[in-house]
Amino acid sequence: MASQDSENPSHAAFEDFVQAQTCKDVKHHFAELCKQLELNPKDFRSFYAKLKERLNYWKAKALWTKLDKRAAHPDYQQGKVCAKNKCLVLGAGPCGLRTAIELALLGAQVVVLEKRESFSRNNVLHLWPFTICDLRVLGAKKFYGKFCCGSLDHISIRQLQLILLKVSLLLGVEVHTGVEFQGLIEPSGENGWMAKLNPGSHPAASFQFDVFISAGGGRFVPDGFKHKELRGKLAIGITTNFVNRNTAAEAQVAEISGVARIYNQKFFQDLLTETGIDLENIVYYKDETHYFVMTAKKKSLLKKGVIKQDYSDAEELLAPANVDHEALCHYAHDAAYFSTGGKLPDLEFEKNHAGKADVAMFDFTCMHRAENASLVRERKGKKLLMGLVGDCLVEPFWPLGTGIARGFLASFDTAWMVRSWGMGVPHLKVLAERESAYQVLSQTTPENTSKNYASYSINPKSRYTRVNLSSILSHQVRTFILYLHNT
Ligand code: FAD
Repeated sequence: MASQDSENPSHAAFEDFVQAQTCKDVKHHFAELCKQLELNPKDFRSFYAKLKERLNYWKAKALWTKLDKRAAHPDYQQGKVCAKNKCLVLGAGPCGLRTAIELALLGAQVVVLEKRESFSRNNVLHLWPFTICDLRVLGAKKFYGKFCCGSLDHISIRQLQLILLKVSLLLGVEVHTGVEFQGLIEPSGENGWMAKLNPGSHPAASFQFDVFISAGGGRFVPDGFKHKELRGKLAIGITTNFVNRNTAAEAQVAEISGVARIYNQKFFQDLLTETGIDLENIVYYKDETHYFVMTAKKKSLLKKGVIKQDYSDAEELLAPANVDHEALCHYAHDAAYFSTGGKLPDLEFEKNHAGKADVAMFDFTCMHRAENASLVRERKGKKLLMGLVGDCLVEPFWPLGTGIARGFLASFDTAWMVRSWGMGVPHLKVLAERESAYQVLSQTTPENTSKNYASYSINPKSRYTRVNLSSILSHQVRTFILYLHNT
């Protein structure tokens, strides 16, 4: 709630909006703020400018300074470069929202669709230095005071979504939750490209767009794209979250930013001898929760009764019916307890979205990545630029913590593609440049990307030290333009 001293109702609404800790509250307080200031959130073109003008509140000014600085980057051409473009973004995960922010800065009309009503993932994401810098520039610290304090380089998925949702709304992005995208509707009559939604009567169903960005998360493959499977050796990931009471004793416990078996044989041998738990690696972050992610060996999971029956197929092996959830809780608890030297007192499981102990097991044996990052579809003379970002472009291996960094890099590359599209660059060139940047994505590390974080922009050359945006030639992407037959 707003503090007592904010007597001006719009100031109070702004404070409530900034502090809101659930998706529902963010939307509620944003609506209240708009009501107080008589602002129409659909007026995307001048929303942010009017908001700044009407909310004359010292606490908001520091945020405007940050957002104005970002918006002043020459790449956006004062928000005019994509003023004629209308973009639909599927998914309000971190990458969908991060992309939406860039598209709004380019001046496009942006609508985000999210099938869930709430942001409930406690799991914690590792942040590369550039992502910390990027989020600070967007005012992350104003929305979440604890953001990357000291040497912290992580954030919970839900907190990251909340920050990005707030920035998106302030910049005039329309974010709809509780609405599922079910496919594209081809142009007909006067209508351009539209989306089939559930519920079908949703107002966003009438939105016509010329850019479609899919940020639907792992294994979501929109029509027209193909995924490759990268099959490695069996890798079973376990994540778990415990309540963080923020006591002095908890503060003393050191994080584990990633211990792999090859680097600390003794630790893993002792763990096995004392508990029967056999791991390849483990990470522990102290965030809003005590978060652990580990890769466990199948043999020990079978022996400890976590997996009931052995199957060679990973899907069958980890099917819910073949997993004893209570045994999994014990396994995760004991691994967390041992790896923190028994110093985390009263390890109590945090609740997940379903109100149950937040422990989950995932299969990383087979990772997916899209064959290409972009497409153009054309029907009845109406063109649609399509792009993939985040996990639906490249699925990350969580213990390595590459997900959000590569996710944001792809968001920026995609925004650069939309910029070229808005500028009328020939389609084949737009696609060829996007695919050239996509080629370097999987090799990126904090070491081989530019260290000049302050100069990061949507231009791939500002971030990748060795990118050749002509490495893929126009004739190589000809098949990425799908001309759909007119009927
Ligand atoms: P996501 O964050 O998955 O967002 C995709 C969004 O699209 C979701 O909100 C989804 O509801 C929405 N969506 C999907 N289909 C539709 C549709 N048809 N219509 C409307 N909306 C739709 N990474 C780690 O590094 N460590 C972890 O411990 C970890 N835990 C995870 C736990 C879970 C349960 C999941 C799903 C992912 C986890 N990840 C983890 C991955 C991490 O969340 C992503 O790398 C990161 O959030 C960036 O992903 P994204 O934005 O591309 O996709």
